[in-house]
Amino acid sequence: MKIKAIRTHILQAALSQPFAYSRAWYDSRTAMLVEIETDHGLVGWGECYGPAKMTAAVVESIAPWLIGEDPLRTDYLWQMVYGRLRDHGQKGVVIQGLSGIDIALWDIKGRHFGVPVHQLLGGALRTEVTAYATGLYRRKSGDPVAYLAEEAAGYVAEGFSAVKLKVGFGVHEDAATTRAVREAIGPRVALMVDANHAYDAVAAVKLGRMIEPCDIGWFEEPVPPEDVAGYRAVKSALSIPVAGGECEFTRFGFRDLFVKHALDIVQPDTCAAGGLSECKKIADMAEAFGIRYNPHVWGTGIAIAASLQLLAVLPPHTPLSLKPLEPILEFDRTEHPIRQAILIRPIEHDHGIVRVPDGTGLGIEIDRKALARFAVG
Ligand SMILES: [Mg+2]
Repeated sequence: MKIKAIRTHILQAALSQPFAYSRAWYDSRTAMLVEIETDHGLVGWGECYGPAKMTAAVVESIAPWLIGEDPLRTDYLWQMVYGRLRDHGQKGVVIQGLSGIDIALWDIKGRHFGVPVHQLLGGALRTEVTAYATGLYRRKSGDPVAYLAEEAAGYVAEGFSAVKLKVGFGVHEDAATTRAVREAIGPRVALMVDANHAYDAVAAVKLGRMIEPCDIGWFEEPVPPEDVAGYRAVKSALSIPVAGGECEFTRFGFRDLFVKHALDIVQPDTCAAGGLSECKKIADMAEAFGIRYNPHVWGTGIAIAASLQLLAVLPPHTPLSLKPLEPILEFDRTEHPIRQAILIRPIEHDHGIVRVPDGTGLGIEIDRKALARFAVG
């Protein structure tokens, strides 16, 4: 079997209401999908996290190197592409492009052997995963203390046992919204906060101390990803676990975070950090360093399916204890017209639990009519 064609799909959809995190406003959602076709007629799908036009250019530049290659040689192809671009793209959009290609190759591999990807990654430890609701963004109008508390209570009513709040809007405002959300969800639902690297270590520690009484599950991206010393300072100052890694890439990048003990929880994005091949390696390293692994997920159903295939095989944290910590799925609840529309069978939650797809490959089927509906240009 040989790779016959590699196609990119840039998709975009306008939002009915803009929303913001600490860095920017969103008024649309985009996606960059990778479609790989073999000479046997098999088609695999992947997705790249990151700026869609740039990742599409990366994938289209890499494509000629892969035409005629055996799609089952996933590690060989990863190494070949990484080796050819090592001098120019050890991080960032090059690895994001490679990630989408790698995921599509795993989809082909699973379909070729007639099994779900998780079986080829070592076999599932679980058939379903607890999901946490990612939402609680800012709106153009209204009092965030009021509308965030109301939104969080809605997730609990849907059955979610964990929610994540966006912070990074100033420590006093963040402390107020965090307290309001904790009050709204009660003591038994997990609450995490995510600053999207809005702060320096001084401000992050100040906020962390203010919200420590709110029983915070983790403090995500308190400081910029390049500031590893800042991560260490926050981690040593707070009793809240520190999380991060959605802006880091490959085993080589994560090695440096791990050996410096900068994180308690690592969050590689499967569609950015190097794909399923690389994220399995990063997960194995994380286990050896005693670091929890919960993937960052911010994409369409392809990104969710790929993340679930990996989540199925991740070991629980402290596996010998009576109540181990299971890895959990980031489940984006913000508006995303493309997310589920491109799947023939959407991946939904049931009271905060999401089943691992058990069909062949990633376990999803793509709706080409939806692709055409959201296609750019
Ligand atoms: Mg985040």
